[in-house]
Amino acid sequence: MSEIEVQVAANLRPDQAVLKAAHFAAQKHAGQRRKGTEAEPYINHLLEVAELVASALAEPDTNLVIAALLHDTVEDTGVTKEVLVETFGSDVADLVMEVTDDKSLPKAERKRLQIVHASQISVRAQVIKLADKISNLRGILASPPADWSGERKREYFEWAKQVVDGLSTHNEMLKAEFERLHEKAGTF
Ligand code: ZN
Repeated sequence: MSEIEVQVAANLRPDQAVLKAAHFAAQKHAGQRRKGTEAEPYINHLLEVAELVASALAEPDTNLVIAALLHDTVEDTGVTKEVLVETFGSDVADLVMEVTDDKSLPKAERKRLQIVHASQISVRAQVIKLADKISNLRGILASPPADWSGERKREYFEWAKQVVDGLSTHNEMLKAEFERLHEKAGTF
């Protein structure tokens, strides 16, 4: 266990720490909805990603599940890394920052960098990245944004595959789920 994990564990039990992160994420993303026609509350996406991460791990990793719940807080709600360090410790904050795009860059450049960075982020952060892409493909299949053409959906699926193909994580369960979803791009 790292120093930070000991620190978090000393203050809160794992169940308490995970729920603290879920509550924090729900508050920060309170006004936000997913882009699909069903406009699900954004917290649904965060809970799905965290559940995928937890179910894919052979050994418990509470901080990784917490980081999965918080993975969009910096990018989408303006929470700073410093706040994450103070509230959840530097291990969680570092994991979130590894999966956070630099929003000062144009969108096309951010998307290109996700492909470039996929193999460079830690194996733990890669599990969040993979679960995030699974959740996004499921969202597009179940409730696509109303203004997305088949072409646009196909492009998103192909880009997501380029990111996932760059990941070195050998998480067979998540990779198989991603491939199963990706094959459905042929139906668009
Ligand atoms: Zn996400």
